[in-house]
Amino acid sequence: MDDEIKRAIRGIALLNASEHDGKTRNDAIISKIIGFKPELREKIKEVIPIISQIVDEVNTIPLPTQKSELESNFPELLVVKPKQDRTGLPPLEDAEQGRVVTRFPPEPNGYPHIGHAKAAIIDEEYAKMYGGKLIFRFDDTNPENERLEYYAAIKVGLDWLGVKYDQVKNTSDDMELIYKKAEEFIQSGYAYVCTCNKETISKNRREMVSCKCSFGDLSQNIKRWNSMFEKYKPREAIVRFRGDMHSENTAMRDPTLLRIIDEPHPIHKDRYRVWPNYDFAVAIEDSVDGVTHAFRTKEYELRNELYYEILDKLKMRKPRVLEFARLEFDGMPVSKRVLKPLVQEGKVSGYDDPRLPTLEAMRRRGIVPEAIRRFVLSLSFTKSDTLAPFETLESFNRKIIDPTSIRLFMVTDPVKFAVKNNNMTEIEIQNHPQKDMGKRTVKIDGFFYVSGHDAKSLKVGDEIRLLELYNVKIVKSGPDIEAEITDNSFKPKIPKIQWVPAQNAVKIEVLIPKVLFVNEQFNENSLEIKQALTEPHYLELNVGAEIQFVRYGYCRKDSANQVIYTHK
Ligand SMILES: [Zn+2]
Repeated sequence: MDDEIKRAIRGIALLNASEHDGKTRNDAIISKIIGFKPELREKIKEVIPIISQIVDEVNTIPLPTQKSELESNFPELLVVKPKQDRTGLPPLEDAEQGRVVTRFPPEPNGYPHIGHAKAAIIDEEYAKMYGGKLIFRFDDTNPENERLEYYAAIKVGLDWLGVKYDQVKNTSDDMELIYKKAEEFIQSGYAYVCTCNKETISKNRREMVSCKCSFGDLSQNIKRWNSMFEKYKPREAIVRFRGDMHSENTAMRDPTLLRIIDEPHPIHKDRYRVWPNYDFAVAIEDSVDGVTHAFRTKEYELRNELYYEILDKLKMRKPRVLEFARLEFDGMPVSKRVLKPLVQEGKVSGYDDPRLPTLEAMRRRGIVPEAIRRFVLSLSFTKSDTLAPFETLESFNRKIIDPTSIRLFMVTDPVKFAVKNNNMTEIEIQNHPQKDMGKRTVKIDGFFYVSGHDAKSLKVGDEIRLLELYNVKIVKSGPDIEAEITDNSFKPKIPKIQWVPAQNAVKIEVLIPKVLFVNEQFNENSLEIKQALTEPHYLELNVGAEIQFVRYGYCRKDSANQVIYTHK
C-alpha cells in the first residue's frame, strides 16, 4: 500500500477523531477514503487492516496532539469550502439589502402545481437573498372561479414546499380601497363606464374605434358606476380604463378594470358584486403592500404598460415588474382547461393522480420539496418558455432520496422458485448498503418468488446468485423453477437476482405513471399497474416511506398494498 494512501488515511482519521472527542472508528474512515480514491473499492480487503492500525494509533494520541498534528501536517483538510451559491438567481436591479419585498399572488381557482412552485420559490429566494419580506396574497377577485378548498390547497402546497412567508392576506379584504381607487379614476376622467355588449366591445377593439360611452360626461359615469352596485345585470356595464384605442398593444385599448359578478364569494359571500379584474387589483395591491419587485410569468409582459399606467394615473408608488419563463413539463400540461375534464371524466383519479403536475401528485409520487427547489433554481432565469424534461427533476430527486431510501426486494410478475437443498432458516439483510439504517431478518424455507422477467431467461444448467443468499444451479425451468445450491463464493460473471420468500410474501400493486399527453392527445396508457410481491418488512414501513426496490427503482409507499413508482 503506497504512502500517499496511508497519509490520506491518517489525515482523515485525525480529522474525524478531532471532531469526535479524540476517538475515531474504522467505518468513519472507509467511506471517506473510497470517496478520495474510488479505485480502493476493489482492494478494500487489503485497506481495512491498514485503516484499523492507523485508527488504533490515532486513538491513543491525546486530543490536543491530534489537533496540532492535523494543523501542521494536514492543513488542506481544515480549509472550509465556500458555500455554493445555491440559488443561481441573478442579482436584482434596484435591490437594497433589507428592503426587498416580493409577493406570491395565486388566484385560489385550482390546485397548486409545478408552475406555482416555481413562482413561490423565486419570490422567496429573492426575499431571502436580500433579507427582505415575502407576502403570500390570494388574488381572489373572481368569485366565479374561486373556492375555499383552493385557498386551503395552495396553502398546504406552499407549506409542503417549505416556502416561508412573512405575511398572508387576501386581495378581497381590500375591496373598499379598490372601490375608492376606482372612484378616483372615474372622477378624474381616466376611466368610464361602458354599457356596450361584448360583441361591440371586441369589434371596436379590433377596429381601433372608441364607443360612445367613452364620450359620456362625468355625471353619466358616476350615475352608471353607482348603478353597477344595484340595477345593472352582469355584463351590462363595465368600468374601462381610458387607454389608447390606437395602441399597438391591444392590452391598452380601453381595457376592463371592474365588472359585475353575482356569484357569491367564498369568503365575502354576497357582500360585493363589483369586482376588479386582475390588472387593476394586482397593480393597486402590489403598490399598497410595499412590493418592490413583482415577478410574473412572461405571458403577462404586454400588460406591464397597463400596470404602470394604472399606478401612474392614481399617483401610486410603482413596484418593478419582472418576468420569468413559465414552467411546464413536456406532456404534463398545467392548464385547468386541460386538467379539469380529465378529472371530471374520470380519466385520472383526482388532482392527486400521480401523472399530474400538481404538487399533491408530485408528493404522492415521491418527489421531495428540496428536489423541486433545486430544480427550479437550476433552470437559470430565462425568459423564454421551455418545456423542462421531467428527468431533470428526477435526477435532483434521486440524489436527495437515495441516502434515506430503504432497500427491499420486490418481484414483478412473480414466478415460483424452489431451492431443493436449502439449509437456511433466516437471513439478516442490511437496510441500506452505506447508511446505518439497521437490518431486517427474512425467514427462509427454500421456497421463493423471482421476477417473471428474470425467470424467462433461466435455463437448466445456468448458475445464478440469489442476492444475499447463495449461488444456485437451475435444475428445472418453466413456471415452477427448481434449483440446487452450489456454493457461496463470489462469482463476478453470474447473474445476481432478487427474490421474495414465498411463505410470507406481501402482495402489492406498483402504479407506474407515464407521460400524460403524447402529441397533445391524452395517453390512454399513461398509467401502468403491475402486480408484485415484496418482503414482509414492507408492512412495517409508514405510508410515505421511500423505498428502493433492488434492481427495480425507487417507489413511494402509498398504502398498505400500493406503491407509486418514483423513478429509476
Ligand atoms: Zn361602450
